[in-house]
Amino acid sequence: MSQPHKSKMTHIAIFGAGLSGRAAYQRAQNLGIRCVIDDDVMTEHEAIAAQDFIKWQNWDFSKYDALILSPGIAHNHPNPHPVAQAARKAEVEIISEVEFGLRTGNWGKFVVITGTNGKSTTTALTAHLLKTGGAKVAVGGNLGTPLCALNEAEKDGITVVELSSYQLETTPSLRPDIVALLNITPDHLDRHGGLEGYIAAKMKSLSACHKDSLALIGDEGAIMQRVLDDARQKLTCTITAISAHSLGERVLDNPTLAGAHNAQNAAFAVAIAKTCGCDDDTINAGLASFEGLAHRLQPVGMMGAMRFVNDSKATNGDASAKALGAYQNIMWLAGGRAKADGLTACLPYFNHIARAYFYGECAGAFFAEAQAHIPCSVHETLDEAFAQAMTDASDTSVILLSPAAASFDQFPNFGTRGAHFTQLANRYITAQTREVSHVG
Ligand code: ADP
Repeated sequence: MSQPHKSKMTHIAIFGAGLSGRAAYQRAQNLGIRCVIDDDVMTEHEAIAAQDFIKWQNWDFSKYDALILSPGIAHNHPNPHPVAQAARKAEVEIISEVEFGLRTGNWGKFVVITGTNGKSTTTALTAHLLKTGGAKVAVGGNLGTPLCALNEAEKDGITVVELSSYQLETTPSLRPDIVALLNITPDHLDRHGGLEGYIAAKMKSLSACHKDSLALIGDEGAIMQRVLDDARQKLTCTITAISAHSLGERVLDNPTLAGAHNAQNAAFAVAIAKTCGCDDDTINAGLASFEGLAHRLQPVGMMGAMRFVNDSKATNGDASAKALGAYQNIMWLAGGRAKADGLTACLPYFNHIARAYFYGECAGAFFAEAQAHIPCSVHETLDEAFAQAMTDASDTSVILLSPAAASFDQFPNFGTRGAHFTQLANRYITAQTREVSHVG
């Protein structure tokens, strides 16, 4: 990556002491940069020295070179957090943890993967293909290890990072060598002041390109066509449109990469791997050996021909539409806290569904959208929805948790929700197997 301007940082403030905030703190410690850190819900943390742990209201903003703000905290929309307002008033730059990493490190060939859906899968698959080819790869960002906690690149090293729209907004030094902008559908609109703001944030990944960059851009839907047109007018680097068909003759025979959406994710990963020098045999071996990520079309149980699939990561309608497109005879478990797009994107795949079981905060709204098209019912909780689905299931059913909504009304996060579904599935399979062996 053409190195960003390395400003001398001597004293920084960090707000948000989650994974990325703590990684920035640790990096600052390693580099001898002084630091204050705080969080709205801060409890002491063993990795943070007590004297650095100062309530932001007591910070002296005249001292700091930058405020590193956690991606989960609003600096603009819907309302800027008071710490962001205070920083602006004092003319302290607000940056992401990624920006701090870029300004203070050497990351080799820098690959950025962003989009509304498919980022984590594509990032993990890209790193897997590169590693299969023997490359020295560091992988992280919004997925797994924050950039600040990754090992910097050795000679010929490659850093692959997933970046969210929040991170892109506050990372002005980004100069990626390869960018994959997978797709854009309405999401996180409150944080970006509407769809245009969200698109603008995602397009920062493209405007950050230098003349030798490669920009890979998904071509699905009207928004992406607009993005492609805009990129072709404004960018001087190489631009390649990527679709699910870009894999060409290559066979994708891996159950963790089911569905047309994963063919597109794979096409991005393959394009990146090729650009980084991987040959066809390496790429095919990597596609076959990829183990997938938890909570994304994850097979979590089988009973005869009946399958249980955990797609808890599908937190919006567009993501669930992709899961519905990948199977037939689906008993669909969906619900939680709905996003703006509701179930609109799922409509074309309703003929893949045998029956839907809606639960949680948006169960009524989902029912109202779906009832004219498919048999469906409303339940209080995931447990109740699951129990009913198992009463109705046939031998060849696919029991699919793909919620099309956030988890926060009933679970702390999508991981806990997926783990709970997996436990329900395993308990059911164990109980049924016991019953059969008793009868036998
Ligand atoms: P992200 O990190 O962007 O949230 P993931 O790879 O974790 O993406 O996948 C989240 C969900 O999004 C998956 O469960 C799947 O249903 C859906 N999805 C994955 N890839 C795509 C894609 N290319 N287009 C649309 N939806 C996708």
